Amino acid sequence: MKRFSQTLWLVVLVAVLSSSFLMPRAFADDVPEEMKTISEYSILWGDPSESLESVRSASPERWIVVKIGKSFPNKPQHISSVWIKFQLPTHIPKDYGIYIQDIRTQKMKVYIGEHLIRETRYDFPYDAQRGLFPISSEESGETVYLKLESTMDRLSIYSTIRIDQYSILMRSYVLQDLQNIILGSAFLFIALIMLIGSVFLKRGQIRSWVLISIVSLSVGIIFITYSPFVYANFTNYGGLFINLFDVALNVFLPALTWSFEQIFDNGKFKWVRRFRKFQVAYSVLLIAFMFINQLNHYQFNKAYFFVAVTVLGYLMIFQFVLIIGLCFQLMRKGNKEAVVFSIGFGTLAVMSILDLVNFYTSSLNYQFYLWKWGGIALFITLIVILVRRFALNQELLVNYSKELEFYNHQLQLSERTEIISSLAASVAHEVRNPLQVTRGFLQLIGSRSEEKEKEYMQIAIEELDRASVIITDFLTFSKPQLDETVDIDVNQVIKQIEGIIMPLATLQGGRIAVSVPPNLYIRGNVSKFKQVMINLIKNSIEAFQDDGEVQIRAYEMDSKIYLHIKDNGQGIEAAELAKLGKPYFTTKQKGTGLGLMVTFRIIEAMQGEIVFESQKNNGTEVIMSFPKVKQ
Ligand code: ADP
Ligand code: MG
Repeated sequence: MKRFSQTLWLVVLVAVLSSSFLMPRAFADDVPEEMKTISEYSILWGDPSESLESVRSASPERWIVVKIGKSFPNKPQHISSVWIKFQLPTHIPKDYGIYIQDIRTQKMKVYIGEHLIRETRYDFPYDAQRGLFPISSEESGETVYLKLESTMDRLSIYSTIRIDQYSILMRSYVLQDLQNIILGSAFLFIALIMLIGSVFLKRGQIRSWVLISIVSLSVGIIFITYSPFVYANFTNYGGLFINLFDVALNVFLPALTWSFEQIFDNGKFKWVRRFRKFQVAYSVLLIAFMFINQLNHYQFNKAYFFVAVTVLGYLMIFQFVLIIGLCFQLMRKGNKEAVVFSIGFGTLAVMSILDLVNFYTSSLNYQFYLWKWGGIALFITLIVILVRRFALNQELLVNYSKELEFYNHQLQLSERTEIISSLAASVAHEVRNPLQVTRGFLQLIGSRSEEKEKEYMQIAIEELDRASVIITDFLTFSKPQLDETVDIDVNQVIKQIEGIIMPLATLQGGRIAVSVPPNLYIRGNVSKFKQVMINLIKNSIEAFQDDGEVQIRAYEMDSKIYLHIKDNGQGIEAAELAKLGKPYFTTKQKGTGLGLMVTFRIIEAMQGEIVFESQKNNGTEVIMSFPKVKQ
């Protein structure tokens, strides 16, 4: 999926770059040069039946002079036909041509002198035409007549009239629309890839994916069918392009609301849903009306324009305000996706407003083009949001599988301890009794033996005692429930232990320092708590290097009793820290590797916690905490 979205990015990037590369060139060619532009033309409102001869001989008062770039003539209400004339320069070099970028008309006849050189007619309601005609040297100083006819609102030339080398004009003519075509094709291409890609998606994701590809598809169609290029070059399909534009716009608008809903809806935006449903219904009706209008030879054009342009315009404004309002609301709640979406949507809104302002301030002589960049920005943000969703989903999945692994591990661990527990319990019981009996007899024999044998007996008894301690450890492990729990006075217990363990420390050439204040109480079984303390302190003593010291301190903090046992012994390797408490983990020659396992078990039963902090050769500190008991 990642690679797929990367490809998408690349396509969008290439499209944007190539079009922004083309745009300045296309516009650079529009800069009027004094020599090469015709600065005025004359206009004669007339009826469609008026012929060229009668126009040529019409009295000069009937002609109105229009200065190009200053003002553009408004078409009188009832008029549907107009004649326009302008004079060619007196010296026209070879291979020259005339280029008029923006002529608003459905039918056009172009005459140079008396000769008809071009005739186009759009039998569909579309009036943006361009004119590019070659002129020869013989036509120097001739008058050019254009007869324009339209049933639509505008009827005139709305741009400069350029005269230049035909090849240069040709380039302008083509480049003008190339941007639209490239952008449009890029969007169509992306939509296609997305639709194909959606086959691989799960049900939960597919809807927003398909919706966004529909947005892309409709934007692509709008870009292409908005450009006059396709009408000029594929006039036969003009009706189809018009229909495609209307259908695409009517698909785009609800799809946009729907995408918004898909991305942000969590059941809250009831009336966004209602509005979207209304939009869908309106679009369906409009498209139906469009076909009816067309089948009736555009008889209902006025009514259709009212619902498809005027009313739809207001609906679009409402839609934009609604979405922007909701975006602000979401942003206030800290929704990151709303921020991203607003950037795209805001760009579209601002660009469209700029377009509209330009449109009204330049007296309707304006080609909308800024909104396209807004459309691209919006589309990119939609994709960003989608990809972010995918990334988040992936992260969720990874976290989930990590958790699963962790619990599995825990389960295995507890299973293992369970097995050891039951084994230990049965074996230990069976072994302890014969051990006790053997010890008794050994003692008996020992008392009757000679000195030398007595010594051996003593060693045997000590070894038996060691075995007995191991068995006690085992039994504690298998039965950690604290048989009889009381409130333990920590200070008192530590004092007792100090007495027992001090000789061992002295024997190892070290000392024990205790700092435990009175009146610290925890809940537990006294002998098991003692076992914990002895296990830990013994470990510290066994870790002694020269001049060893064990510090024991206790204190109360946040309703807990903390107990620290700190030594300056050999410390523990980082890798071994994780192994502490695992059965049979020991680094000692005569060690059992059971002491800490038992200790952990008891502390767990006392609802306490234990942490080891240690570095190799830098001593070890054991930190325990237990719930405090009030006395
Ligand atoms: P044993 O003492 O029989 O080896 P334990 O479960 O008590 O078993 O301890 C396991 C291991 O943890 C020890 O072998 C030792 O390597 C390490 N260890 C525990 N406490 C300390 C300590 N205070 N200093 C250094 N190593 C320690
Ligand atoms: Mg030990």
